[in-house]
Parts: sequence; structure tokens; C-alpha cells
Amino acid sequence: MSDASTTTPEIRDTVILGSGCSGLTAAIYAARSNLKPLVLEGHEPGGQLSITTLVENFPGWPEGVQGPELIENMKKQAVRFGAELKLAHLTSADLSKSPYELTVGKETILTRTLIIASGASARWLNLPSEQALIGFGVSSCATCDGFFASGKEIAVIGGGDSAMEEAIFLTRFATKVTIINRTENFRASKIMLERALAHPQIEFLHNTVVEECLGVEDKDLKGLKLYNKKTGDRWTLPVSFMFLGIGHTPNASAFKGQIDLDADDYIKTNENVFVTLMGERLPGVYACGDVQDRRYRQAITAAGSGCMAALEVEKFLEEKGL
Ligand code: NDP
Repeated sequence: MSDASTTTPEIRDTVILGSGCSGLTAAIYAARSNLKPLVLEGHEPGGQLSITTLVENFPGWPEGVQGPELIENMKKQAVRFGAELKLAHLTSADLSKSPYELTVGKETILTRTLIIASGASARWLNLPSEQALIGFGVSSCATCDGFFASGKEIAVIGGGDSAMEEAIFLTRFATKVTIINRTENFRASKIMLERALAHPQIEFLHNTVVEECLGVEDKDLKGLKLYNKKTGDRWTLPVSFMFLGIGHTPNASAFKGQIDLDADDYIKTNENVFVTLMGERLPGVYACGDVQDRRYRQAITAAGSGCMAALEVEKFLEEKGL
């Protein structure tokens, strides 16, 4: 008689880490190839889309679609073809073993191939009022939500290239953009900074931090309580939108030391190949979506790379006769 602790777990054909756009697209494709993928939904089930409101740039939705609805539909589509979704996140991974060994709490999962679609998490200020207003005037994605700032005065937080790029992009919609930088130094490249500085619709606040987002009761951002660290001044800036441009953290820490990461912990991609191919060292391991993409970070590009990863998995298993 065997008990649970001594039973060898079945070996999966493929496990997908993450249930955002890339992971779910990979799941749809892998499931349709009859690979019965297991999707570990991760810390943020549904990924960044699940905390967005209207998505207007996903092809096929002329009137736009709510981010959570889009994700829910992708989940249903994956499940319909045989994907197994599990509300769990990876505790650790051992890619030195064959098959690859994943640990989820007390459970061990063995898999021949692995698709890492664990995404990147936007950095937030982590103020309770900010968190309460995400989707109601607070956003970390100018491309997704910029249109809603049409005709409004808004703020962009940060002093790097993301903040400059977002601010310049948002001047297409907003009447005025205030960039709020917590120091007087900028991480942004000279050219981006100069463009922002020269823009007539952009103003800068230096040494300034947001202490509170106003409007929580009405679920509608009304303004920001600001504090100048140098002068000690406190005041309210009336804005209808706050965009965070303070960077993203790729969710790849479980693979540190096992997979090549760049200086900012994004999984390194092969040149000209959008999906990371780990090659001989880690055969059958692929990464797709934002965990390996610092450049595009769009739902559609994440979905596209998820599709590519699943096709690579299928090809890999076929070539190995598995
Ligand atoms: P960066 O890490 O370069 O900059 C982050 C900025 O946000 C810094 O000004 C930082 O301030 C600030 N910040 C971080 N945390 C907080 C906080 N809690 N409160 C207030 N401010 C905060 O990130 P980016 O996303 O801007 O850029 C990442 C990489 O991507 C860079 O290599 C960049 O060049 C690249 N990129 C390139 C683009 C392009 O070429 N078009 C566009 C976007 C990004 P502090 O300096 O005080 O830490």
C-alpha cells in the first residue's frame, strides 16, 4: 500500500507559471495540442489585466473590453480545451533535475517542459488610498488608460524613462501633466528628460512625495496630498488621474541562479527571438510575456509570446518523442 508521501507524482507534459495574458494564451495553445497543461495561477491571478478597467487596444473588441472580463474569457477558453488551472503559486523550482521539479507548498510537481509566464508587477507607492483607487483614477499603464485622462489635469510619478515616456504620451490626452519626482535627480536618459522639460504641457515637482490620494469615498481620484521633503511644504494638487511610472519588478526571483537574468531581473531573451529559448542547458524551458519583456509590455504582445512558447513546447516534445 502506498501513501501520499511516497507516491511518485505523475510527470506532466507542461506546466505554465502565471495566468495573465501570456500564460493563458500558452494554456489555450498547449491544451489544444492535448498537452493537458497545468497552470499555476500565481500571486496575482489574471495578471495585470485583472486590475485594469477598460482595455481598448486588444484586437477584436471594437468597443473595448473590461480587463477582468478578457482574462475570465481566456480562462474559460483554456479550460474548455483541457487546461487545469490551480490557484497556487510556485514555492521553488529545481531546474537541475530532469524532469523539472516544482514545489508548490507541500506538493511536488514534475514536468518535462516549463513555460514561465509569471509577468512583471508594476511598482506602486503602496499607500492604502492609492491601492483603493486603482482603476478609479490611479493607474500604472499609460498606454491602457491614457485615453480616460482626456481633457484632464493629471500627475505622473517617477523620474526615470518610464515616467518621461508616460508623461509625454499622456499630453495627447491630458491638458496638463505634472511629473512628481521624489528627488531632484533623474534616472531618465538625457534625451527623454529634455523632451519632457521642453514640453509646454508638462510641469515638474522635485523632492516631492505623495502622502495620500484623495477621493477614496467617491471611488474617484480628486487630488494628491503632497509633501516637499526639502522645504517641508504640504499642499493638495487637484488632479483627476495619477499614473505610476516608477518601474516594474519582473517575477523571476524563483529562478535566480538557474536562468540568466539581466541587471533588472528580467529573464534574458535570445536575440531576435521573442520567446526565451533556454537551449541545451535548460531544454524545454521557455519564458514569455512581461517576465522577459521590458520593451512592449502589452496584452497583445504577451499573448503572442505565450502562443509562441506553447508552440515551442509542442515542437520540443514531438522532437524528443515525448
Ligand atoms: P527606473 O528604475 O529607471 O526609474 C524609476 C524611477 O521611479 C526613479 O526615478 C525612482 O526614483 C522612482 N521611484 C522608484 N520607486 C519610487 C517610489 N516608491 N516613490 C517615488 N518614486 C519612486 O525605472 P523605469 O521604469 O523608468 O525604467 C526601467 C528601464 O527601462 C530603464 O533602463 C529605462 O531606460 C528603460 N526604459 C526605456 C524607455 C525608452 O527608452 N523609451 C521607456 C521606459 C523604460 P529614485 O531615482 O529616487 O530611486
